Amino acid sequence: MERTFAIIKPDAVERNVTGKVLAMIEAGGFKIVGMKKILLSRAQAEGFYYVHKERPFFGDLCTFMSRGPVIALVLEKENAIADWRGLMGATNPANAEAGTIRKELGVSIEENTVHGSDSPESASYEIPYFFNQLELV
Ligand code: ATP
Ligand code: MG
Repeated sequence: MERTFAIIKPDAVERNVTGKVLAMIEAGGFKIVGMKKILLSRAQAEGFYYVHKERPFFGDLCTFMSRGPVIALVLEKENAIADWRGLMGATNPANAEAGTIRKELGVSIEENTVHGSDSPESASYEIPYFFNQLELV
């Protein structure tokens, strides 16, 4: 079993499609082992996405991620990291495959509805950024 970290981003929470994303997660065979709704401060968003701090879109990305509440999730499944990236679809919804969350629900390359850890190292940073051990059941 493997765990990965996911976020339902502000664009999805604003549009009331949290339930649609959760239904796709459950239909995909993931067990939700942690879930909380939080409003990130700008500094917390910057800390979460620090790997992108030199990228031109970093400022806009942190503004977006802190503009409204998000749902933070820990998902468990065999091959969870790669499988969740597959269910999310490509970063730009325009390039995402049919049936993926970003294709079905994404708005733009920035407002792309969901986040997912891209490696075991990322998951090891991101899960404890949001959850303590007692919250993962
Ligand atoms: P995430 O890390 O959110 O799961 P990702 O791994 O598919 O997405 P990254 O390259 O890590 O993509 O980019 C992080 C986030 O930054 C993207 O999900 C998107 O919200 C935003 N982003 C990425 N590229 C661009 C861009 N060219 N213009 C605007 N925003 C972007
Ligand atoms: Mg990424």
